[in-house]
Amino acid sequence: MGRKLVVGNWKMNLLQKEAKELSCAIVDLIGKNYDNCEVVLVPPYTALREVGNCISGSNIDLGAQNVFGKSRGAYTGEISAPMLVDAGCKWVIIGHSERRHLLGETDEQIRKKISLSISYGLKVILCVGETETQREEAVSGSKDISTKKRDIFSPIKTQIENALGAFDEQGLLDIVIAYEPVWAIGTGKNATSLEIAEIHQCIRELLVEMFPDSGNNVRILYGGSVKTGNISDIMSVDEVDGVLVGGASLSVDSFFKIVKLIGS
Ligand code: PEP
Repeated sequence: MGRKLVVGNWKMNLLQKEAKELSCAIVDLIGKNYDNCEVVLVPPYTALREVGNCISGSNIDLGAQNVFGKSRGAYTGEISAPMLVDAGCKWVIIGHSERRHLLGETDEQIRKKISLSISYGLKVILCVGETETQREEAVSGSKDISTKKRDIFSPIKTQIENALGAFDEQGLLDIVIAYEPVWAIGTGKNATSLEIAEIHQCIRELLVEMFPDSGNNVRILYGGSVKTGNISDIMSVDEVDGVLVGGASLSVDSFFKIVKLIGS
């Protein structure tokens, strides 16, 4: 298993000047020699260059929030994997719930994006997670606990199987999974340690079933309203290999505290 990983997803926030200030402040605090955990900053496309310049020479990597499933051509408004590599990205987030649910991204598109990204040497953070309705339906009615657990995991299982089913063990080396319950993203409600542990265990078992040689080595992150107040609880779950942070990554203080706590 690699080091713990902290990913800051800035979403559609910050102009270039603000992104420069935030990333340079993060570099100042984390320092060039900090390597207790791996840190990735994921700004909007327009700020990739500014952030790339600030983190240059540090241990922080650059990531992008999305990619298209073709490498070039007449796809107005899209961005390709080689373009991201050219812009200095080492990582790309794929299948974020905001893209799946607000923009209609399908499992098939996600599979293509992963495949192409890996072929260009990008490391992929694949986001998966159940909606509030899916969880409520799964726990409703008089079922036994293991059936409820199976039903909660069912949509996540489908997302992972559809995204990764066509890959071989080698392809898996560049993939990290982020479990992000949709009801916890940007809502202030985070999953409990028990809920996180249950889903992370299910994801691990599925990965080992699908990829007997490398399934155990894939890092599984948690995401969904991670902040300074809950990071200790989240990281106390054995199965959590790091976090994907949205809102709290926009403040240097909270992001730094999260990184320090994970790396300590
Ligand atoms: C995210 O961007 O994936 C996320 C989890 O956001 P937030 O931390 O704001 O819930």
